Amino acid sequence: MNAQVKFHPAEELLIGFANGTLSPGMNVVISAHIEQCAMCREKTSKLEAQATVEWLKSTESVETDKDDSISAPNFSHLVADITSQPQQRERVLEDDSVSEIHMLDHSVKLPKVLAKVASKGLVWKKLAGGINQASVTLDDQTQCEFLYMKPGSQVPVHKHQGTEVTLVLDGSFSDEMGKYEKSDFVVRDKSHTHQPASEEGCLCFAVLDSPLTFTSGLARLLNPFLRYRFKRATSMG
Ligand SMILES: [Zn+2]
Repeated sequence: MNAQVKFHPAEELLIGFANGTLSPGMNVVISAHIEQCAMCREKTSKLEAQATVEWLKSTESVETDKDDSISAPNFSHLVADITSQPQQRERVLEDDSVSEIHMLDHSVKLPKVLAKVASKGLVWKKLAGGINQASVTLDDQTQCEFLYMKPGSQVPVHKHQGTEVTLVLDGSFSDEMGKYEKSDFVVRDKSHTHQPASEEGCLCFAVLDSPLTFTSGLARLLNPFLRYRFKRATSMG
């Protein structure tokens, strides 16, 4: 679908996704990327199949200890079940009426999992620098939000205390390390200080596992508010 996707989730994240060990917020952003990225979709199906086989091996040895007469589980059937899940999810979600976000002058079609998140209703807030933000609460470990950067906007320089994952849904943004376009999966952690900016405008979905620390100018004053907002967002889950 998007042959030009340049940035993908790291293998550890896909393994966590396949094994179901990630937070719901992280699952949603990975699942949205996978919907648009054939390469990661294929990798994930293999990892899921592997995880199933591992799991079955562990249950098989337990069952064999209990009772030899229990027949071996049908591996191929279960693996096929798992790899067919994306299609099943798609069918369910096709009924969802919200699948687009209306931006200033055009509509953006959302990945199905995010359409579902957005269907609960988004409340947009204006932040400094031409940024609009709509927070959504998916769990108590992450802060998730849709971010719209107007053309020519810039986020204040900031650092992360944890990990920030940003999935580009429309348009593009860039920082010191590169330019990110539709379906790119951008990870920033403690070691990065960055200042994202968007020339043409950009709609993103971001998942943050701890609050940002702004490092420059007036934006530093935002910190107590951000911390409060983060606490509030996490206590609502
Ligand atoms: Zn990918």
